[in-house]
Amino acid sequence: MTLKRSWVASANHADTPFPLNNLPYGVFSLGSGPCRLGVAIGDQILDVAKIADLLPVEPSLLEDARGWNAVMEQTPQVWAALRAALSNTLAEGADERAGALVPQAEAVMHMPFTVSEFTDFYAGQHHATNVGTMFRGAENALPPNWLHIPIGYNGRASSVVVSGTDVRRPWGQLKGPDDTAPRWAPSARFDIELEMGAIVGRASNTPLNVDQADANIFGYVLLNDWSARDIQAWEYQPLGPFQAKATATTISPWIVTKEALEPFRCASPMREKDLLPHLRDTGPMLYDIPLSVTLNGETIAKTNYREMYYSAAQQLAHHTTSGCPMRVGDLLGSGTISGPERENRGSFLELSWGGKEPLETASGPRSFVEDGDTVGLHGAAEGDGYLIGFGDCSGTVQPALKDPFST
Ligand code: CA
Repeated sequence: MTLKRSWVASANHADTPFPLNNLPYGVFSLGSGPCRLGVAIGDQILDVAKIADLLPVEPSLLEDARGWNAVMEQTPQVWAALRAALSNTLAEGADERAGALVPQAEAVMHMPFTVSEFTDFYAGQHHATNVGTMFRGAENALPPNWLHIPIGYNGRASSVVVSGTDVRRPWGQLKGPDDTAPRWAPSARFDIELEMGAIVGRASNTPLNVDQADANIFGYVLLNDWSARDIQAWEYQPLGPFQAKATATTISPWIVTKEALEPFRCASPMREKDLLPHLRDTGPMLYDIPLSVTLNGETIAKTNYREMYYSAAQQLAHHTTSGCPMRVGDLLGSGTISGPERENRGSFLELSWGGKEPLETASGPRSFVEDGDTVGLHGAAEGDGYLIGFGDCSGTVQPALKDPFST
């Protein structure tokens, strides 16, 4: 696949994240004006309601106050037909509907869809091995279930915010110097996790196999699972993370469709143990997407989505095995995506090895995130002369409020 040319000139550059090949879905406003559904093209946004006459869906779907949920609620055939019509409308040689374009520089981005429920997995082997080694020693790094199921926990849809939203350092009950006496204080080990989020586009209430699960995924976003390590260390046994992960989860503003990522499918890593038949790989279900983390604009880590041990399709398939109902707009976090080397680590916990080896950065040494830091996640699949980008996934840490319980 090579660059598809558009009548929007800025979409025809090899370095734009939003060529005609991409066409990701977002929600924008001009100033405090109403929210509109848009498609990124070059440095512009196509206001889709303004070209509703050219699109094969009910116009009301393009003015859904929830974002792109009403479009997702249609069938995969409609998803494909809409994408094809958008591609035709924006292709070089088509009638130029310049009046439907808005410069991205003038737009404010909002949540691209309403999150129904949020589940976060722990499915990156390098991350799980690093964290397990720190907490339990190298011999017990991976729990016994890890090579058999993508383990995860049910998170909070209410925590999910769009890129650019400030994140407030939380207060919490923190692990003290020993395991018996906690402290009440602002988190001093506030962290990030570089992840991808898969968005479920079809409801289900029966177990799905891996192929069915893959077919039900609508698209992907970048996802930062903000994590308070000192709250997590005290609370996580035996039921897993709770308040440590409830402050905020930032996603990128554009939903990149599964169809746009098709050319970048790649195989999962070698299986160390055979998976049960219903979770076995049936084809390439990961994606080759280079990813990076910036701290105040400086790149501090680089990794790739293909480093995952389990694909989003395997995660969704496992999620449904109990009969768990899945809803349109369910968001599945991949788990932190680290690679084999130190510079590939997707969290400060790993980059600083639990604070023992602070990272030297242009902003000073960092074990965890400091007040005022802006952390950005970035990702773009790299085609032959074109990119498939997600837009930045960033947030700035604001200092903790004064003690909410002090008198
Ligand atoms: Ca996570």
